[in-house]
Amino acid sequence: MASEKNTKTSTANNSKGAVFDAVVVGAGFAGMYMVYRLREMGLNVVACEEGDGVGGTWFWNRYPGARCDVESMEYSYEFSEALQQEWNWTERFASQAEILSYANHVADRFDLRPHIRFSTRVESAHFNERSNRWQVTTSAGNKLNARFCIMATGCLSSTNMPSIPGLDDFAGNFYHTGRWPQEGVDFSNRRVGIIGTGSSAIQSIPLVAEQAKSLTVFQRTATYSIPARNEALSASEIAETKANYAQLRADNKKQPAAFGARFKRGGGSALAASPKAVQKDLEARWELGGFGFMAGFNDFLLNEDANALAAEFVRNKIRGIVSDKATAELLCPDQIIGCKRLCFDTNYYDTYNRDDVHLVSVKNKPIERVTPNGLVTNDVEYVFDDLIFATGFDAMTGSLLRMDIRGRDGERLQDKWHAGPRTYLGLNMHGFPNLFTITGPGSPSVLANMVVATQQHVNWICAALKQMQADDKTLIEAEADAEDQWVEYVNTLASHTLYPTCNSWYLGANVPGKPRVFMPHLGFPAYVERCEEIVSAGYRGFAFS
Ligand code: NAP
Repeated sequence: MASEKNTKTSTANNSKGAVFDAVVVGAGFAGMYMVYRLREMGLNVVACEEGDGVGGTWFWNRYPGARCDVESMEYSYEFSEALQQEWNWTERFASQAEILSYANHVADRFDLRPHIRFSTRVESAHFNERSNRWQVTTSAGNKLNARFCIMATGCLSSTNMPSIPGLDDFAGNFYHTGRWPQEGVDFSNRRVGIIGTGSSAIQSIPLVAEQAKSLTVFQRTATYSIPARNEALSASEIAETKANYAQLRADNKKQPAAFGARFKRGGGSALAASPKAVQKDLEARWELGGFGFMAGFNDFLLNEDANALAAEFVRNKIRGIVSDKATAELLCPDQIIGCKRLCFDTNYYDTYNRDDVHLVSVKNKPIERVTPNGLVTNDVEYVFDDLIFATGFDAMTGSLLRMDIRGRDGERLQDKWHAGPRTYLGLNMHGFPNLFTITGPGSPSVLANMVVATQQHVNWICAALKQMQADDKTLIEAEADAEDQWVEYVNTLASHTLYPTCNSWYLGANVPGKPRVFMPHLGFPAYVERCEEIVSAGYRGFAFS
């Protein structure tokens, strides 16, 4: 495998379009690092990005209060020591604006922009068996032709807009948190309705409530939320982390979700501990805030009785914060805690103590329709100037399936995945040679620190490509058996936990008609070990030709 052309921007053209070694789809954290590494390998690479800037998730999700729940100094690239030493995060949990500045800084510092075509959506990617190359078409009407096609499309980038009748007739403005206007939105003096109570809603509700004339929250499923306890980072904390960055990164990779090595982790079962000890532990973790909340005992996500202890603890907190008893009870979730992604907030429950904030449950009666003035549920019309859809994403598979991707024999990805996603390692698929999915379904992806997970995948792909170069191979493709076994293994891992018991987006349960399959691989360290072991065994399960 030799590079077709080793220049930054210019490419040869043939009847099949501009010729590249690799097309990368997306210029978020995964796409940017992929471009950086492929260029370093001397390959001619182009990235197509739908947005007019880099940053992916952090480009689109500009809703009020958007910030990352993984600590800023851990949610960052480690590939460049100079980068991690020079960049200064200001808060424990970085805001969307700061993460986007970081993404822009990375793009500039490593001169990535000349490789990225902005405002360019990939519409299709077809494998041509005669040339053994991918033919890609874009929304800009361009054709690209490449040996490798790498999907860096993100796991939470395809928005989930519920199809509620009447939306087109709404006289006010409506927004989805995942496609927030770049110029921001002023809700002053506006009556606002928000649908959803997931992470995006929980972050935005307190801030929208502060600005709007009134805010009504439509809740289908109550959510467990833990205080984030965001705070400014001190100069000494930053210096200490930077002095030991390599160690922190290494320690994080041994953690189940590739972050939080600094959490104090407990051992044993919550059921084996005294009720007093469990309460004390949860109380201390509630005060600390963040993802460490459920790290005190190892069976919170394995055993329903253990889980009930943590769930009741949070419900009691809600009852203690929200003064109106009926509202507090509506806000108390009744499902397994942690089964849906845990949320982290600043003043979420307190916000319901405001006179201008109202909670409406749509658990038993869905939102019936949108009217020109607002929306109707439970036979009541609620009147609004603006509506916010905090209704989440067609996670993990949505962005891939919205493209027309076809492998060998013209097999459509939509057909291959009709009963749920099938991959080998979440990286590649049988029938789709030389196509890679960064943090694809079947890998830890959304259950891990995404920046760590994307770097691990990019590094794995680059090592495989180097091996192909060394062995003079053209194609890499997962074998059917290996893929079948992997899908079964990923499902089995989840079946030993409480994760499949609720209607989460991990299972695709939030999107009507989506097959119910637990998509991510549980446990980052075990996954990495499997990847490395497969490489050591001569890329077992992959065919090279
Ligand atoms: P989400 O967690 O899927 O929440 C969507 C909300 O909308 C849910 O409350 C859902 O109710 C509701 N909903 C959807 N369709 C509805 C309908 N037709 N009628 C009424 N309610 C409806 O989406 P998200 O809040 O955007 O978060 C998605 C993921 O993105 C998070 O889990 C997290 O991984 C990531 N995220 C991270 C951060 C962060 O790091 N701080 C922030 C935001 C997002 P049901 O629960 O009943 O389905």
